[in-house]
Amino acid sequence: MKKKFSFILLVMKSIYLDWAATAPPDPEIIHKSAQVAIDYYGNPSSLHRQGVSALYLLEEARVILGQIMDCEKQELIFTSGATEANNMIVNSLLKRMSAFSKTAQKPGIVISGLEHASLWKPVQFLKKLGFQISVVNPQENGIVKAEKIYNALHKNTVLVILMLLNNEIGAIQRIKQAVNLVRDFSENNGRRILFHTDAVQALGKIPLSLKSLGVDSACFSAHKLGGPRGAGALYVKKDTILDFLYKGGSQEAERRPGTENLAAIYGFAQVLKKIAEQISSNLVQANELMDRFIKDLLKCPGISLVPENRYEQNQAQFSPFILNITIPPIPGELLVRVLDDYGICVSTGSACYSIKKKRTRVLTGMGLSEEKANSAIRISIGPDTKEEDLEFFVSILKRVIPQLKKGSAFNKS
Ligand code: PMP
Repeated sequence: MKKKFSFILLVMKSIYLDWAATAPPDPEIIHKSAQVAIDYYGNPSSLHRQGVSALYLLEEARVILGQIMDCEKQELIFTSGATEANNMIVNSLLKRMSAFSKTAQKPGIVISGLEHASLWKPVQFLKKLGFQISVVNPQENGIVKAEKIYNALHKNTVLVILMLLNNEIGAIQRIKQAVNLVRDFSENNGRRILFHTDAVQALGKIPLSLKSLGVDSACFSAHKLGGPRGAGALYVKKDTILDFLYKGGSQEAERRPGTENLAAIYGFAQVLKKIAEQISSNLVQANELMDRFIKDLLKCPGISLVPENRYEQNQAQFSPFILNITIPPIPGELLVRVLDDYGICVSTGSACYSIKKKRTRVLTGMGLSEEKANSAIRISIGPDTKEEDLEFFVSILKRVIPQLKKGSAFNKS
């Protein structure tokens, strides 16, 4: 019975507006990747011809990714995705605790309030172990002021975390400015501070050069681009010393041991290569779509954008692929379910938090009221999104909002 139900759900036409959670797979890439899994089955660490040809393909993927991301190929560590890459960075600091304990000082981490759970949670874990954590929240417009990061630094700060493009509201952060201030502080203080950025939502969407960003580390994920699941990368700048916790193999220069997921890594490189050529045209198209979409939404009573003045701000500060709106007092979760009945797939925010409490941490951190934050939904688009999809979305919203507001159990009045 359950099986039949899920089958019916899938054959219904769906309007997919949840690209930030995961992009629909690119069939050409997935087929090529499956063929690699079949043809290149050798373990890249094996010395025979099957192993050597698998290793060749693995290194070719590293070269392609390095060229597009603008870094050296040795600076990329393949991982299962961005969650693992983010955890690797934070957990690599564990050994620092023992070094600091001899001096009775506590190592510090400065983290922005915008971060994804895969950074936020491991940092909370280090807090329990004694690390001093400073949270720097964004302003109401969703941008973290670089000066606020600078002011949060202290002589024991070892890590600064600021994401490049936020997955919930689409705000693009001023990484270079923050990196420069952190470097200035480091020079005066004599202690190197690692600067990490989560670039998952930026890769393949906006132009990105790791060299010019100047960060020490960054993470990426293939499935956000239409590539296979289970492949991602951690960039670590040359000469950065980190104590990764994994042990047990020489893969990825012993930093992330384990037999490589070659087929998925190959797919990652191929999908990025394909998308990189289309970044400018995809951006133009998404900007046009988003502009019309926002104008239509603003005509609907009761809807506000998050941040509220997003449309009045410089549009270059926001990704045209991600939009957050709030329709109080309708709970976001309820709206997501009702929209799903019409075949529309959106989400309440980060997919990693959609069924848990505290999913509004990022939104309340930027000054949104609890009610508005609870009523927020995220609409995220991709290169395949059509104008009619967004028009249909708006027409359904117009239909369901009055119904939900009228007959709702959540309505206090
Ligand atoms: N960071 C951000 C900003 C994300 O949006 C996601 C995906 N929800 C992740 C990290 C985790 O990526 P992955 O699914 O590859 O583990």
